[in-house]
Amino acid sequence: MDHVDPRRLIPRTNDLLALPAVHEARKRLNERVIRDIIQHVQERARRGELAPGHVEPALVAALAARRATILRPVLNATGVIVHTNLGRAPLSPQALDALVAASGYVDVELDLADGTRSRRGAGARDALLAACSAAEDALVVNNGAAALVLATTALAARREVVVSRGELVEIGAGFRLPDLIESTGAVLHEVGTTNRTHLRDYAGAVGPETGCVLKVHPSNFRVEGFTSAVTLQDLSSLTAANGVPLIADLGSGLLAPDPCLPHEPDAATALADGADLVIASGDKLLGGPQAGLLLGRREIIKRLGRHPLARAVRADKLALAALEATVAGDAPPVVRSLHADVGELRRRTEALASALGVPVVPHDGRVGGGGAPGVPLPGWALRLPEGLAALLRAGEPAVLPRVHDGSCLVDLRCVPEEDDPRVLEAVRRALAALEGAAAGRPG
Ligand SMILES: *Cc1c(COP(=O)(O)O)cnc(C)c1O
Repeated sequence: MDHVDPRRLIPRTNDLLALPAVHEARKRLNERVIRDIIQHVQERARRGELAPGHVEPALVAALAARRATILRPVLNATGVIVHTNLGRAPLSPQALDALVAASGYVDVELDLADGTRSRRGAGARDALLAACSAAEDALVVNNGAAALVLATTALAARREVVVSRGELVEIGAGFRLPDLIESTGAVLHEVGTTNRTHLRDYAGAVGPETGCVLKVHPSNFRVEGFTSAVTLQDLSSLTAANGVPLIADLGSGLLAPDPCLPHEPDAATALADGADLVIASGDKLLGGPQAGLLLGRREIIKRLGRHPLARAVRADKLALAALEATVAGDAPPVVRSLHADVGELRRRTEALASALGVPVVPHDGRVGGGGAPGVPLPGWALRLPEGLAALLRAGEPAVLPRVHDGSCLVDLRCVPEEDDPRVLEAVRRALAALEGAAAGRPG
């Protein structure tokens, strides 16, 4: 019997390259990427996963699905505002505009008036100082961890960093503050115990070997019960008397107090309480791009800015532009979500619920890894079958719900109101797919 090897029927590269879909894709993708996609589809056919007759349509679909980046926008329906796995803070419209404006050639380090070099990041620095007048100067680096490394390197390399045992936290994904600090060549001088540290513990540790005293705000957990910590105010009398700098790593990044989060530290208060240097992140409660903010005394900021390491951790022009616009612009999405009106949240949630015929339940949002651990933010959620979560995540648009107690909860706190119809459609499609699957029909 005649038996043609089906692999000989797989369309050739040159024929595929001549397809109109490839011509169309060349407007978005370069030749190497297109050829990789063609090769991948042909490979699948060679392995028998695809009939030769299906190569062409599979290629057309693969080209259409290929974006410039594999990152996909996600509607955050978890109620967790600063969600590290979702890139933390969504940018404000002003920050987005600034990002686009800075994407080309831009005067990030040039004085256009006289054509000479200027201070990098002056706009972001000035915006921070205007928003936090307690700071004499500011420096922006790549992220909070980089700010901490720069500060401990410049102030305490080969010397000691005095820090409470209760503050040696893991900041996520296995990264631990003590390891980070020791990687700079500074020696940790731990004082106190996990739950209690007193001023006398610090006083016994500060001496000629001390490079700085560090106070860390554990932004992702809370110790309750028999606890005691020393305030910045008390610490600052000790450090001032001994002539050593006092660093406050706030983690989260409020520049001024927020009435919604009475226990969350802020830069203005920390500096007023006597911290010489404050460290914060740009993409936590500040609601801006990834950045490490260093605010404080002029001579310390100057020392940090001149350290060789400052060049290795400098912020890029996009982050500087977005940070400046965040600080100077309207309340960014993080702040809006934090202050969302609970009645408004209920109205929006009930509108979706009645369109879908599903129940609404009370649901607490959270600030997330970015600060205020344990502080509940009262709100509402759609309660859906647990099996819906995977369908929502895989849908278009992708929606990330919270899975809790056997339910899939959709919380609108972090969803911009104009996206409510998209959430509605996504849930409707997922519910239909789930019912289809239950009835044995293909979803
Ligand atoms: C988040 C955090 C950091 C690290 O900041 P990144 O911007 O994530 O690098 C450092 N210290 C504390 C206390 C934090 O909460």
